[in-house]
Amino acid sequence: MDWNLTEDQKLVKETVGKIAQKELAPRAAEVDNTGSFIWDGLKKLRESDVLGAIIPSEYDGIGMDTLSFVLAIEEIAKACASTALAVVSHSICSYIILCAGNDEQKKKYLSSMAKGERLGAFCVHEPNCGSNALALETRAVLKGDEYIVNGSKIFITNAQEAVIYAVLVRTDPSKGPQGISMLIIEKESEGFSFGKKEEKMGLRGASSRELFFQDCRVPKENLLGNEGEGLKVVSQAIIGFGFYGAAAISSGLAQAALDAALKHAKERVIAGEPIGKNQLIQAKISEMSLGVDTIKTFLYLTASGRDTNSPSIVDALKVKLHASETAIEVTNKALQIFGGHGYCGDFPIERYYRDARGLALHFKTTELLKTDIGKMLIGL
Ligand SMILES: Cc1cc2nc3c(=O)[nH]c(=O)nc-3n(C[C@H](O)[C@H](O)[C@H](O)COP(=O)(O)OP(=O)(O)OC[C@H]3O[C@@H](n4cnc5c(N)ncnc54)[C@H](O)[C@@H]3O)c2cc1C
Repeated sequence: MDWNLTEDQKLVKETVGKIAQKELAPRAAEVDNTGSFIWDGLKKLRESDVLGAIIPSEYDGIGMDTLSFVLAIEEIAKACASTALAVVSHSICSYIILCAGNDEQKKKYLSSMAKGERLGAFCVHEPNCGSNALALETRAVLKGDEYIVNGSKIFITNAQEAVIYAVLVRTDPSKGPQGISMLIIEKESEGFSFGKKEEKMGLRGASSRELFFQDCRVPKENLLGNEGEGLKVVSQAIIGFGFYGAAAISSGLAQAALDAALKHAKERVIAGEPIGKNQLIQAKISEMSLGVDTIKTFLYLTASGRDTNSPSIVDALKVKLHASETAIEVTNKALQIFGGHGYCGDFPIERYYRDARGLALHFKTTELLKTDIGKMLIGL
């Protein structure tokens, strides 16, 4: 399909694609096997400025449009979805600071994040709040010039490898949703420590850990926006921006699975005939191709629209839902086309499937996306 990309967008896709295939793809299986963090890949990506993709040039980033960012993430995910997840999580943290930070905070943090010298993480999820951020328990109490933070977070991507954390905390329990705020917490802060690394089913090169805050001291100037604006800040960043990055990871995985399945359908010969001659294989290929096209059409259209119109929340939710669920179907069909070979580790297919599965849980689960979309459409 012709997506009417501009010359600049084609260049981003080509440049990042080349780096990803040369530097990330050859190491993706090893990263998945060992669960070691994808530092080498991130260092290589610094050359293409992807870590500063959404940060404006005044803070040493390159200020890409949303569709260019999506294209870059897709190319990275085709090679190594773990690296793509690490970049998206870092970019969400940068985006939070960009949207909610004051001049001093932007100057202090964004330049080193844009250059990839300091990695970011965003921290919402907690053991007892599950899918519902309104139930978060991590408490921040202002004492003099510092917030004293107590609580914990789980499943945080880039944890321990990051240096800058955008952390959702409760500053005033009496105010309900309006008592939730966002703080920047630096890695070296007193009282900040890390728990066990999660052994995930997929996306294994993007580390996930618990974070602990025990009387953690955070300067009061690290408050992002005003007290009580935490939920607004995090929604703006995750729904308004992060969902496009998440959908791009799913899109890259679906495309990689389709490419591999097409090759296999031609090359796998049984009883003298390539398996692609079977109509049921052809049907799967056509369904997969349609799935990839619908992800891209919806994703590219809404990502372009995001830069020109005010973004529609319901569209962002739908894009993330459609991309993550379709990528699971596409990678699952690819696995079927590979037969028993796809179920073993010699081909990347089972990794694509495991990686795609995680995207229907992360950021917002399929169930929560569906209920939110339904509520918005009904007007509840
Ligand atoms: C790979 C990965 C990376 C992650 N990275 C981060 C990160 O960087 N930062 C961060 O803050 N978090 C991160 N998370 C956490 C992620 O956001 C949560 O896993 C997710 O919000 C779901 O929460 P839960 O796992 O506690 O599921 P639960 O809330 O325990 O939900 C369990 C099941 O119940 C369903 N359910 C819950 N409530 C409802 C409801 N009201 N209606 C219908 N169904 C419901 C859910 O959809 C799910 O199917 C990551 C998760 C993964 C898998």
